[in-house]
Amino acid sequence: MNVYDGWRIVAMLDARGMTRTEDVSDADIIILNTCAVRAKATDKVYSALGRIRLVKKPNALMGIVGCVARESGADAFKRVPDLNFVLGPQSYHKLPEILNDPNTRLFNIELSGLEKFDEMPQMEKSPLVTYVPIQEGCNHCCTYCIVPYTRGREISRSFVDCIRDVEQAAKNGAVEICFLGQNVNGYKYTDENGKTYRLSDLIRTAAKIDTVKRIRFTSSYPTEMTDDLIDMFATEPKLLPFLNMPIQSGSPNVLKRMNRPYDLNQYMDIVRKLKLARNDIQISSDFIVGFPGETDDDFEQTLQIARTIKYINSYSFKYSPRPHTAAAIMPDQIPENIKSKRLAILDAELNEIQRAFNESCVDKTLTCLCEGPDKTGRHLVYRTPYMQQCIVARPDGEPKQLCDIVITAANKASLRGKIAD
Ligand code: SF4
Repeated sequence: MNVYDGWRIVAMLDARGMTRTEDVSDADIIILNTCAVRAKATDKVYSALGRIRLVKKPNALMGIVGCVARESGADAFKRVPDLNFVLGPQSYHKLPEILNDPNTRLFNIELSGLEKFDEMPQMEKSPLVTYVPIQEGCNHCCTYCIVPYTRGREISRSFVDCIRDVEQAAKNGAVEICFLGQNVNGYKYTDENGKTYRLSDLIRTAAKIDTVKRIRFTSSYPTEMTDDLIDMFATEPKLLPFLNMPIQSGSPNVLKRMNRPYDLNQYMDIVRKLKLARNDIQISSDFIVGFPGETDDDFEQTLQIARTIKYINSYSFKYSPRPHTAAAIMPDQIPENIKSKRLAILDAELNEIQRAFNESCVDKTLTCLCEGPDKTGRHLVYRTPYMQQCIVARPDGEPKQLCDIVITAANKASLRGKIAD
């Protein structure tokens, strides 16, 4: 979502005739698009601001947008007095106001809903992969998560608006569409005639566009994997066989304290249904280790579920107490050294699973999407249906956007391959 927001901000400033610079001391406006999901991310924002203010041009405008802006509120101006703007994740479309009047301070952290989507310019040219946001916010209130505070309650965009964005992206050259939302499979929009649309309707409609070849969505909440959506994996070949469905912990006790109201049987049932719908489907997850009260036994259950499901491409983090969340004031906070130890053990397990999966792809032919040349320019980087990076020797002439690649080698991080004859 943040990457998408970043692109929209760039498109908005492009439309004002501004150009990008990599050199912060050359910039007229400096925008930090921020994430507040972990304390470390927030700390990094303020230390970056401290460094930037020493090298920026005296008149350059500097500010923060996104979740740290919402989390810090007006305190951000106290912490960094030369900030010119502080705009929450649903207010960054107001950024041009500071360009119109650079002598004011711009402050808006309201949760204004979907207004920003209507007020932002469309991107002129889409990358091959285009993110289409379909909903924002979350109603789940996991006890560790700041998102319901920073992004607000769930709101779904209208079906017509979402499909208009897909059509526009396809017209601008997008081959892959990724539907995006904090709780993307909670998408639910009822139009003025009372017809309700779900994510499955968006996938079915987007798949009808000829030039759209691949569709995916992120990020999913387990209990919102409804049967109509699972069926899509069986019936819609453009939907990639890869799904991020975070479990967070393998311990029922921890899940309960996290306020994630599913048990492992329910979760496994969903995985079974997904495998029945499409037997080559692979799943990735997010994990939090060291949640308050997590015992060695709880942690062992997390390792167990990772081995059972064989998640690929997962993300794992140490629990980080956040303001405005219930878990931050729970007793039995886990000491940092135990969190670090558990994270290292889990990471080693997940890396091993990922390496084994990558190696299982050798000799297979996968249809991959070109991302462009690597740093050397001698190779092309392709993305498999499972989002693995696959490096291929650069052929003469224009590279094919989407092509079959025979996988020839693999390690934990990436694959190597050759374009099939
Ligand atoms: S479902 Fe995800 S975004 Fe929503 S509260 Fe839980 S962790 Fe946060």
